[in-house]
Amino acid sequence: MRIIIMGPPGAGKGTQARILVERYAIPQLSTGDILRAAIEAETAMGLQAKEIMARGDLVPDEVVCGIVSERLDDADAGNGFVLDGFPRTIAQARALDEMMAQKAISLDAVISIEVEPEALIERIKTRALESEGTRADDNVEVLRNRLEVYRELTEPLLAYYQRRGNLKTVNGMASIDEVSAAIARALEK
Ligand code: AMP
Repeated sequence: MRIIIMGPPGAGKGTQARILVERYAIPQLSTGDILRAAIEAETAMGLQAKEIMARGDLVPDEVVCGIVSERLDDADAGNGFVLDGFPRTIAQARALDEMMAQKAISLDAVISIEVEPEALIERIKTRALESEGTRADDNVEVLRNRLEVYRELTEPLLAYYQRRGNLKTVNGMASIDEVSAAIARALEK
C-alpha cells in the first residue's frame, strides 16, 4: 500500500499515519519528524531548517525532496509506505511523481483529512500543552501562518490528485477511531 496522508496542521495526520503503519505493516515517512530529528542532531540540514520551521514556513523543496528520495530507497519502504507531511507543494508532488516513475511504482491513494479551521486552533493548543514545548511551531501565532501556508501552497494539491482520481476525503471532525474507520473504508473502495 502506498499512501499519502494530507490535511491541515492539527488534522491528525500523524496519528492516522501511525494507525496505518500498524494496519498495513508499512513505514511512516514523515518529513516533519525527519527534519525535527535533524534539528535535534544539529546536522547542516537541521540548522538550515530550524528557523524556517519555527516560523511555520516551508523548508525548501530540494531539501524535503532529497529526504524522501533517500527514504524511498530504504529496504523497509519496499512493500509500501505512508507519506505524512509530503508533498506540500505542487513542485514536491511533481518530484514525487518522477521518483515513483523511476522506481516503477505508483500511489494507491491520497487521503485528505478535512477539519474546520477553528477546531484546528483548539487542537494545536492542546498539542502545545501535551508536547510541553518540544515543538517550537505548536503555538497559535505560528499555527495561523502554517494554516495560511497550507491554504496557499498545499491545498492546490487536492485538485492535483483529484484530477488523477486517487483522492479520498474523510471527515476529520470525529474521534480518532471514527476517522481511522473512515480511512479504512475509503482504502477498501
Ligand atoms: P509537520 O510535522 O508535517 O507538521 O511539519 C512541521 C514543519 O516541518 C512544517 O511546518 C515545515 O516547516 C517543515 N516541513 C515538513 N514537511 C515539509 C515539506 N514536505 N515541505 C516543506 N516543509 C516541510
